[in-house]
Amino acid sequence: MTTRTAPTARPTTRAAAINTHCRDCIADPGSPGHWREQVADCTAGGCALFAFRPVPRHCIIDGLHDDAAIAIVRERLARRGPA
Ligand code: SF4
Repeated sequence: MTTRTAPTARPTTRAAAINTHCRDCIADPGSPGHWREQVADCTAGGCALFAFRPVPRHCIIDGLHDDAAIAIVRERLARRGPA
């Protein structure tokens, strides 16, 4: 008889680990926007994950962050204000 272990909720890829870390770091269900929009709005440029942080799909061009699209997300979040 084999013993099976319960599946864990731990990420299994580097990208998933970064996504989980950024989401845990900054996402707030009480604030405006989807968690990826909130992560896009991160301003911690000194963070080692900043260039790899998950952002909405439309904010990525050729695998790189599209700063113009991220700026639009930031403006939209600022207009919505606190929930
Ligand atoms: S990039 Fe921003 S959201 Fe992601 S871990 Fe760093 S400070 Fe947090």
